Amino acid sequence: ITSKRALENLLSTLPMLRTPKPENAVTIAVSSRVLFRTEREQKVFEQKGVEEYLRYQIEHENEPFAPGPAFSFVKALETVNARLRELYPQSEELFDIVLVTYNHAHVGIRLINTINHHNLFIERFCMTGGSSPIGYLKAWHTNLYLSADAEKVREALTEGIAAATMFMPEKMTEVSESQLRVAFDGDAVLFSDESERIFKAHGLDKFFEHEKENEDTLLDHGPLKGFLEALGKLQKKFYAKGQRLNCPIRTYLVTARSAASSGIRALKTLRAWGLEIDEALFLAGAPKGPMLEKIRPHIYFDDQMFHVEGAAEMGTIAAHVPYGIAQNYTTKLKTSMEK
Ligand SMILES: [Mg+2]
Repeated sequence: ITSKRALENLLSTLPMLRTPKPENAVTIAVSSRVLFRTEREQKVFEQKGVEEYLRYQIEHENEPFAPGPAFSFVKALETVNARLRELYPQSEELFDIVLVTYNHAHVGIRLINTINHHNLFIERFCMTGGSSPIGYLKAWHTNLYLSADAEKVREALTEGIAAATMFMPEKMTEVSESQLRVAFDGDAVLFSDESERIFKAHGLDKFFEHEKENEDTLLDHGPLKGFLEALGKLQKKFYAKGQRLNCPIRTYLVTARSAASSGIRALKTLRAWGLEIDEALFLAGAPKGPMLEKIRPHIYFDDQMFHVEGAAEMGTIAAHVPYGIAQNYTTKLKTSMEK
């Protein structure tokens, strides 16, 4: 009888560990190069070629990779999942993490060892052996794709998948282990680049004028709107159980717009979309780095490289959304960073 009960207890835990169906889950695809630190291996690949690289990976397959820029974000997703499973044991509305790698299957053993070493719960692997993962991302209903490869990120955005490029930071600020914090820029991230185009073409005064005139016209949606929506859907599950104040997901809008002149349109648009953002910060052109340092998000999304760099310098994990008109203006900065 005891053993039967033990078996029943064991079985009762199984639904909690089952991987959700992609259409129910909020699917986050991360590349191995942003989840873990793989610079050394990357160097072997670039300098000695693929055969030497594979040999190196197999020789080191029992050495786990160190955490990369997306690591704390993924950890926080799992924290949210644990809370969701407590409240809704049968629900499949969870984050589902897919590890995407262009690597050869040989490297898979080291990746699995690393995942187990860090106690991550990642069951889905997409090992493309060098070909593009974009088709798989679509099949998986991917809600967000994070990669070190700007080209692949651009490809994903073109296909309508929310995506951002991540970089290996020099320093990473410590972040919350109990609450997932996600911060978004407004223009060309949550919103389209419509207003950004006015600013780039005619300057700040014309931009203010344009935003005032169009105060009651909603902004069009940008590439990350769908991801904010997905976060909102999960937040509401906590609110429904009376956990609004204790919600393990918190969202932030960090925009260079100023509250009085151009903020109304942004807020009206979010409200019309039915999206709540927990905190909205209108910086009126002030640098974003110091504010983000206070927020300590697990990830911050911006379409402009200088904001990404400014945030990263102060220890914030910032991801670049290569979308919209600003991309035509950042070429110089990007080149200087690559040097
Ligand atoms: Mg922007």
